[in-house]
Amino acid sequence: MTETLYIRVILDMVSNAVDRPFQYLVPIHLRDKVKLGSRVLVPFRSREMAAYVVAFDQEPLVANVREILGVQDFPLLLTEFVELSYWLSQKFFSRWIEAIRLCLPPAGAVQKTKSIEYVQPLLSKTNLLKESARIKKRAFRQSLILENLASVEQGLSWPDLRKKTGARRQSLLSLVNKGLLKVEKISCEDFTCEKKIPGKIGEYEKLSLTAEQKTAWEEIKTGIGGEQKQFLIYGITGSGKTELYLRAAEKVIRQGRNVLFLVPEIALTTQMIEQLKIRFPGSLALLHSNLSQKERYEQWLRVKKGKARIVLGARSCIFAPLNNIGLIIMDEEHENTYKQSESPRYHTRDVAKWRAAYHDSVLLMGSATPSLETFLETKGQKVKLTTLTKRVKDHLLPSVKIVDMRREFKNRNRGVFSRALRAAMEETLSRGEQIMLFLNRRGFSSFLLCRQCGFVMQCPYCDVSLTYHLSPEHLQCHYCGYRSAVTDLCPKCKTSYFRSFGLGTQRVEKEVKNIFPQVETIRMDSDTTAARGAHFKIWSDFKDNKASILIGTQMIAKGFDFPKVTLVGIVAADITLHLPDFRAGERTFQLLSQAAGRTGRGKLGGRVIIQTFTPWHYSIKAAAEHSYMDFLNEEFKRRKLLKYPPFSEIILINCSSPLKQRALDSAKKLKKKLTENLTVAKHSGVELMGPSPAPLFKIKDRFRYHLIYKGTNLQKYAKLIRETIWDFSLTSGKEIRITVDFDPLVML
Ligand code: ADP
Ligand code: ZN
Repeated sequence: MTETLYIRVILDMVSNAVDRPFQYLVPIHLRDKVKLGSRVLVPFRSREMAAYVVAFDQEPLVANVREILGVQDFPLLLTEFVELSYWLSQKFFSRWIEAIRLCLPPAGAVQKTKSIEYVQPLLSKTNLLKESARIKKRAFRQSLILENLASVEQGLSWPDLRKKTGARRQSLLSLVNKGLLKVEKISCEDFTCEKKIPGKIGEYEKLSLTAEQKTAWEEIKTGIGGEQKQFLIYGITGSGKTELYLRAAEKVIRQGRNVLFLVPEIALTTQMIEQLKIRFPGSLALLHSNLSQKERYEQWLRVKKGKARIVLGARSCIFAPLNNIGLIIMDEEHENTYKQSESPRYHTRDVAKWRAAYHDSVLLMGSATPSLETFLETKGQKVKLTTLTKRVKDHLLPSVKIVDMRREFKNRNRGVFSRALRAAMEETLSRGEQIMLFLNRRGFSSFLLCRQCGFVMQCPYCDVSLTYHLSPEHLQCHYCGYRSAVTDLCPKCKTSYFRSFGLGTQRVEKEVKNIFPQVETIRMDSDTTAARGAHFKIWSDFKDNKASILIGTQMIAKGFDFPKVTLVGIVAADITLHLPDFRAGERTFQLLSQAAGRTGRGKLGGRVIIQTFTPWHYSIKAAAEHSYMDFLNEEFKRRKLLKYPPFSEIILINCSSPLKQRALDSAKKLKKKLTENLTVAKHSGVELMGPSPAPLFKIKDRFRYHLIYKGTNLQKYAKLIRETIWDFSLTSGKEIRITVDFDPLVML
């Protein structure tokens, strides 16, 4: 050991002013305890503050280095996370501490976890019931206990059992003494998600792979232990990607390494955990934000202590403190939910790549509609493409019908549903089958659409829809700032049906109730899923046929597997199609394909009806023909022409203030500063556009302006951009807020 120990720490406080390491001295008596990633208590100015150790030094950097005051026993951050958080903060323009916080346990503070008593039968089901019947007269509570245990697969916790039977401890103990039951103490962190979900454990049917799956599997296998580390499975919905994930996981676990399994929505963890617990009993952990604080902490601790071999979860799960990772699975890699919309605005895929490289592990991505970014990478060496073109068991893709809503309009049908969709719903219900009605997103009415001809005004320079603004009424491109007056007549067909467009799930639900008052419906959107456990309830209710129609936003489009759904109705494909975003076409194609993939998954077959005012659009046509390649070719062409990602990078800078003029002025000033400081960038095809009002111009009483960088290799200028903005924000006044998003997925 060295004589003196200096450390550098990041203070646990979100502020630009302290967004850099500070040096401290570790007193001798604390020296053994301080590790990289430790949480320490330090004096800072006149206060005491928590901080995280990010580096060691041999020498003091300044005179009079102060001593730390204490250290927490349990090092919270993996060494890996010290590096990861730094990289992340640089790439995604956040403060280091914000990135560190992503890697910390959910509750922040360390809590004690308790244990729970878990009762397991030592008899078979039949014998439990026999014994229960035999003692019913004499020992009623005891017989109830046995009966309850016979009804489940793998025992019950004593608190549960007590609630169900009203039995006292004495009854339990006499059953234990008779040798009929055993009681185990399980620490809460091991009392996992698995035990709460019914179903068999450890028994599953070994599927024999289809020819396509076999080929894909051979390739992926070579990656586990080989040179090729990144894979993209491009496989249509229902082609059996999951089976490949599970086999890869099995193989990696057999080699003694661990698996991170990411899905895009919390709702999907429920379905996946069912499959995982069958194959990997006792080795799971589940990490996502819809668990209680306590549950999350317990699961986190389970991972941290090395008790879990597979960690399943949504976006934040990528920061699970899992060691020795051999495989990272990223299902539906194209999904937007993988990008965090608040600071740090990271993309899970980038973090997954970082961690996979750190652990020298395989990254297995899968999608029916891969992102353009990832698909482009398969053209080089980095990512290996494997393709599944057929559904398993010869199931066919559903037939897709496009309904031209302009025609409905001409026929004076002003309702939510076309005649075709309504007729299909009636038929489906009469056969006792299920329907999913899908609305791309909740109401967002900021573009003008002509109901007569489907025309939408576009920016002549940027190929995105113009955004509709009120007071004063005008249309604007929020990329380049182009402005145009609003006309009452459609410029194309000269009729007066040019209106702003929007529709919400509640409205759809209301209309369904009007038409089919006796039919049970479930609505699934961010309102109805806010409560804990809501996802699971909706999923199981619909699965158990408690409702015939499920109405929802993109949440229901992803991954759900309900064989009884034979009709999918896409109520208004235009909503995403005309978002003022260069990815609008891609997003629409993805959503339509995913939604269509929800049907035709059983013997009953399935069909899809897409309602739209723009039936000629390539995204809609390609989705109807299930042709990712058609879509891809057209979209690549457009992106290349206008130099949009993946052929360039974008940095979105948002400047906001409660005062409109202030927001605009400071955006202008910031632009000037950036242009002055980044003179080099001017010559290398880097553009700085704006300021232009954001499509969502006013949020929470703040007016928002965008500056947009577009160019190749922008990461090269990140440091300079970052410093300029940080400096600027120190002088711009408190009410001005500036946020930076590298590679934004949504530009609203
Ligand atoms: P994807 O994720 O590609 O949409 P899934 O993995 O959900 O498709 O597979 C669809 C269904 O096909 C699942 O019910 C799965 O159990 C089943 N399946 C997958 N592979 C096979 C196979 N080789 N043989 C039979 N059934 C399979
Ligand atoms: Zn424009």
